[in-house]
Amino acid sequence: MTETETKRYETRRAIAEYGRSLLEDDLTTGTGGNLSARLDEDHIAISPSGIPYKEVDPEDVIVARMDGTIVDGDHDPSTELPMHLAVYRERDDVGGVVHTHSPYATTFASLGETIPASHYLISFTGSEVPVAEYRTHATEELGEAAVDALGESFNATLLRNHGVLTADDSLDDAYTVALMVEYCARIHYQARAIGEPEILPNGEIDRLSDKLDSYGQ
Ligand code: 13P
Ligand code: ZN
Repeated sequence: MTETETKRYETRRAIAEYGRSLLEDDLTTGTGGNLSARLDEDHIAISPSGIPYKEVDPEDVIVARMDGTIVDGDHDPSTELPMHLAVYRERDDVGGVVHTHSPYATTFASLGETIPASHYLISFTGSEVPVAEYRTHATEELGEAAVDALGESFNATLLRNHGVLTADDSLDDAYTVALMVEYCARIHYQARAIGEPEILPNGEIDRLSDKLDSYGQ
C-alpha cells in the first residue's frame, strides 16, 4: 500500500470505530449521527447512511470529493454529507467533524438555548455552545446554518431541534469535543434543576483556552 492508501484505510477504520463509540458513550441512538475526516485538500471520508454502527467496516466508509462526488465506497454516504462539506469548505483549520444526537445537549437544542460556561470544560468548544437556526436535516440549508453558528472559532454548535455538530483539528479531537459538549450540557442541566449555576466570565474562558493548549503529556 502507498502512504496515501494507508492513510485512507486508517481514517476509514477510525470512522468505523468511532461510530461504535458513539453508541457506547451514549452520544446517539440507533443510526443517528455521523462522522467524517479530511483526507487531503479535495477528499474527505464519511460514515455511510443508515447502517447500524456495529455493522460498519472500514470498506463501508465513503470517500467523497469536496464537490460531493463519491470516489470510493459501495453505500450511500451520510445524508448529512452537505453539512460536513460546508464545514470543511468554510474552515481550513478543521480536520474532523462529528454529528451526534447526544441527549443532554439535544435537550438544550430543542429549547433553542445555548450551553453557557457553567463548567470550565466548555473551553473545549469556545466561550459557550451556540445554537444554529432550525433547518430540515440532510439539506444544504442545515449546513449553512451550522457554518454560520460556528463562525471562525467555535468548535461546536447545537443544531436546533436536532442535535450537536463538532469540528476540530482531527477526528480524534472532534470526538473529544462531542464528549465535552455532552458532559457540560449534563452538568448545566443538573445544576439548573436544583439551583442557578454561576457562569464563568469571558476573561476566565480565555485563560482556560490558553491552558488547554498546553494540557497533556
Ligand atoms: P445518516 O445515517 O444518513 O448519517 O443520518 C443520521 C442523522 O443523524 C441525520 O441527521
Ligand atoms: Zn442527525
